[in-house]
Amino acid sequence: MISEFDLIARYFSRPAHSAILGVGDDAAVVEPSEGHETVVTIDTLVCGTHFLSDAEPRAIGHKALAVNLSDLAAMGARPRWVLLAITLPEVDEDWMSEFADGFYRLARKYGVDLIGGDTTRGPLAVTVTAIGEAPAGMALRRDGARHGDEIWVSGQIGSAALALAHVRGDVRLKGRGLEECLAKLHTPVPRIELGRELAGIANCAIDISDGLVADANHVAQRSGVRVEISYADVPCVAEAMAMKKQPPARQAILAGGDDYELLFTVPPDRSALIDAISARLGLGLTRIGRICTGSGVVVLDGSGEAIDLKVKGHDHFG
Ligand code: ADP
Ligand code: MG
Repeated sequence: MISEFDLIARYFSRPAHSAILGVGDDAAVVEPSEGHETVVTIDTLVCGTHFLSDAEPRAIGHKALAVNLSDLAAMGARPRWVLLAITLPEVDEDWMSEFADGFYRLARKYGVDLIGGDTTRGPLAVTVTAIGEAPAGMALRRDGARHGDEIWVSGQIGSAALALAHVRGDVRLKGRGLEECLAKLHTPVPRIELGRELAGIANCAIDISDGLVADANHVAQRSGVRVEISYADVPCVAEAMAMKKQPPARQAILAGGDDYELLFTVPPDRSALIDAISARLGLGLTRIGRICTGSGVVVLDGSGEAIDLKVKGHDHFG
């Protein structure tokens, strides 16, 4: 049986190039870049809630990191260091090795160093703390949306929830559309480059993790504004276009969580800058609505009627 310390040494001790001191001491030592502010976030994935017990360990490793990097992306921050707390019922070395691969692969892609963590025994859960930095005063916040701003989203909305609905038999996807949606569910891509480009251009940003309407509502509340979304303009995978008006697909697109796309607001006179960013990154950016005075979120259908949703998004205690 492998010990806790061998486990850490074997799977979580790859060199940390951008830290003064990484894994192996009581704590890590890092030095922030000059003129920058530190941006910190934490998120937990619990087996049975955020992934199923038979989920691919590689995908769990990827997603545990991706959801945290997505939070840094939504702040316009550059990710630098992460800490990983993992609780395991038992040690399965094949599982560990694949989990670590999924985790490190994504970390390497963004030049992020794993600098510490904690390894304990218990029900399977993974918690990641991510530390990034943004030029002083430039972090993107939820409370910056202003009357007249246009609302944009990156990529396609609802894909992860559509994949889940497909697995449950509520919608039927096939071919490339199904593949895209499953990839989004298991290995979401944090929009790091986009977030950094938006800092200084967008007034406000949030990542869509709880669902489009739920997260738009966070913006409405924090900014003290009303969010108006035109459902027809909300982008979804091409294969879901034909079913976009059917309730299960509409529910997935408007209220499904786990997209990890960014929603951001921009004054209309800066929209050419957004189009330029879209072209530069090769990432679709779509205008879906506008910020008005008032409160809450309204989603309008093609004829200008408000769409009423039973479930507006993900809530652990709702
Ligand atoms: P302590 O008892 O002093 O908190 P630990 O025994 O928990 O130290 O951890 C030893 C070292 O290994 C520390 O540097 C810690 O940050 C690191 N570590 C523990 N678990 C992990 C993990 N899952 N991933 C990365 N580093 C870890
Ligand atoms: Mg410890």
